[in-house]
Amino acid sequence: MSKRSSRHKNNRKNKVKRVTSSFNPLAAAIIIVTATILLIAYCILYPQNAKTTLIIYVCTMICATLILAISGWIYKNKKTSLDESDIIKVTENLNTEMIIWTDDFTYVYINKKLRDLLGITADYSDKMEGVWTAFGITNPDPLALEKIVGSNSYESTFRNPAGSLISIAWSTSMVKKTRKHALFLSTGFNLTELKKMRVNLASANDFFHSSMELAEIGLIMSTDRKVFRASPELAHMLGLKNGTINVNELRSIIHPNDRLQFDGAIRNKDISAAKTIEMRVKSADGAYRWYSFRLKSILGSGNNSPLFGGAVIDVTQKHEKDILIERLAYIDDVTEIANRNKLVVTGQEIFDSCKILDYSFWIIVLDIDRFHIINDTCGYNNGNYVLKNFAHILYKYVTPGGLAARISGDNFALLLRDYGDEEMPTRTVKSIQEDFTKLAVDDFASISLTCSAGFSKMPEDGGSFLEVMEHAEFALKSNTGIQGSVCGYEPSMHDSIIGNTELEKALALAIDNNELQLFYQPKIDLTSGRIMGVEALIRWIKPDGTIIGPDSFVPIAESSHLIGKISEFVLNEGCRQNKLWQKMGYPPIVMSINFASSDFYQTDLKEKVFEALARSALDPQWLEVELTESLALSDIDFAVDQMNKIRDLGVKLAMDDFGKGYSSLSYLQVLPITLLKLDRSFITDIEHDNIAYEIVSAVIRIAKSKKIETIAEGIENNVQESILRMAGCDYGQGFLYGQPMPPEKILEFFEKNAKRDMKR
Ligand code: C2E
Ligand code: MG
Ligand code: MG
Repeated sequence: MSKRSSRHKNNRKNKVKRVTSSFNPLAAAIIIVTATILLIAYCILYPQNAKTTLIIYVCTMICATLILAISGWIYKNKKTSLDESDIIKVTENLNTEMIIWTDDFTYVYINKKLRDLLGITADYSDKMEGVWTAFGITNPDPLALEKIVGSNSYESTFRNPAGSLISIAWSTSMVKKTRKHALFLSTGFNLTELKKMRVNLASANDFFHSSMELAEIGLIMSTDRKVFRASPELAHMLGLKNGTINVNELRSIIHPNDRLQFDGAIRNKDISAAKTIEMRVKSADGAYRWYSFRLKSILGSGNNSPLFGGAVIDVTQKHEKDILIERLAYIDDVTEIANRNKLVVTGQEIFDSCKILDYSFWIIVLDIDRFHIINDTCGYNNGNYVLKNFAHILYKYVTPGGLAARISGDNFALLLRDYGDEEMPTRTVKSIQEDFTKLAVDDFASISLTCSAGFSKMPEDGGSFLEVMEHAEFALKSNTGIQGSVCGYEPSMHDSIIGNTELEKALALAIDNNELQLFYQPKIDLTSGRIMGVEALIRWIKPDGTIIGPDSFVPIAESSHLIGKISEFVLNEGCRQNKLWQKMGYPPIVMSINFASSDFYQTDLKEKVFEALARSALDPQWLEVELTESLALSDIDFAVDQMNKIRDLGVKLAMDDFGKGYSSLSYLQVLPITLLKLDRSFITDIEHDNIAYEIVSAVIRIAKSKKIETIAEGIENNVQESILRMAGCDYGQGFLYGQPMPPEKILEFFEKNAKRDMKR
């Protein structure tokens, strides 16, 4: 047992004596003084009894003093004992830790709650060390006194017998002061559970933050969209010096190609839905990483401005994984630039941003002129080489936020930000064309590599990206056949379509009024120079004599039921006319008629042709049907089937405009054609363009090997004719021999030709 403990034990035995003060004689003195005054008064009044009275007085005084002293003593002692026991009674069973102690620490009382906590019994005199520790002091000395009393509340931390850490905040107040001592009551407030909760809260918070850090999730928030508060994780991810970043600083660390999306999100005040944008942002190490910003506006309460912000997640890894998938989904295999899917997705995003940000973008659709021929004649690898290089040229012209994509085959698209320069698309296309021409070296030295383009502007030129793109394609097609053309979309281009209804009505009337007439263009055998056939080409002769060419009305007729009537007329009239010429004694020739795709897809086409032949009594061998390759290719199986049916009748089949569209020599393998018509565009170039010559002669060679005859259309001069003859072309058609002419004129032509034949 320690010295201090044993001393305390002794003190405890005498605690009442020590704690209470000595008897106060004031009451006795008052009584004595009063009694003495009374006695003196009695002695003055009755001097004869003074002696006896004095004796009685002295005795009474002694008794009174004794009684008063004893009762005072009893009272005093009784009162002090009651104070302490009162406190003890009150504190003993209170549900809070309490210590009653004197300022010299000679008296210490510990209530049950604290005793239980310390694992001690009511007799704790030998456990004082633990008691002091619980009280937060090492020694019961003046310093400790100062510490306890000096602070209103101080904390002690100690371990209970079970080893758990206990924390108590002590509040001490003096409950009594005597001359020698002060009695204090210290009340404890057990903080242990609270601390545990705090620790848990702190660790939950830590856990939350470290999880966010691990998952690389940051939070961003702003009330004015100008200054953003970043969570510690986001600040860490982006290497921000403090937790705030202004909109310009944030924009500056976003990849230039992704800034448009960012601007769109910042300015989009639509609070209805969360929007996710994925952008490359410069991270702490200075490299761009992919971050997904899931942003939303939340309406502020009252007049508070809406909160704008959300979660920012590092999705670089996902992006890296997605690259392969994206390559498959969004990257064109051959050119390694974006494909049509990517163009449509990005284009629509840009379209949406344009609307919000008041920006404009150009979409330029480009087509490599006669690419299919390069592909067919120079070989697949060389074709790919041209495509790749064309893609690389386009890529050079992509500005931030834009895109270069291969739409299909030899069709490409370029998305360019508009900076208010209306000439920009045309200038860009011209530069692309110049670059493309320079590719014509080595294997391509003799090819004139050109491209055509159509363009439109978004969001002005359509209600969606696809519509704007269609309009650019519309502009491109409006110039089909003219190599190197650049054409901007004009809403007035639709006027012709709008006017179609009127035209349709007029055309229907024209058919009923027999205003349609066939003109005939001679086809010449290049070896003999003789007429071997004519092509029937339709004309609309208005009552005033105006002649309207088929390009102005056949497409309209094709888009309505009128083409059926026209084709029926052409078929019957062509057969009738040819038979008539034969009847008139002219040598039999082949009558070629053109079929529209809708004609070709009629299931009773064979029957109609048969009927026309029967009606006119024309031998089928003198009838030829011209089909365009695009027509044949829209459904190759059906086309082959239909062609075979016509061939079964003994009618010839020609493929028209070969080389104008997406012709492939491979079609010659599958389509049961008897004649191949080389498109006029080749013939025009054949004099100057070696490759055109090479292409034409290669096509002729291959056709011959397939026992398919060849005819060149659009021959306008003798040079072209001799080149074609040299190349082995069987027949020729063109202004050199004669323009399409009405029946009476073609008869004159026959006559002249017959006379020339006779001279030969
Ligand atoms: P196509 O079948 O390729 O007809 C040849 C076109 O080339 C004709 O134009 C003809 O006038 C033109 N042409 C012929 N030689 C030369 C030449 O040396 N130089 C130039 N610059 N042009 C030449 P046309 O008659 O205006 O016909 C245009 C197209 O309209 C035809 O192209 C054909 O696709 C279509 N077409 C004509 N008649 C009919 C028809 O009865 N039915 C259908 N469905 N389409 C027709
Ligand atoms: Mg034709
Ligand atoms: Mg043609």
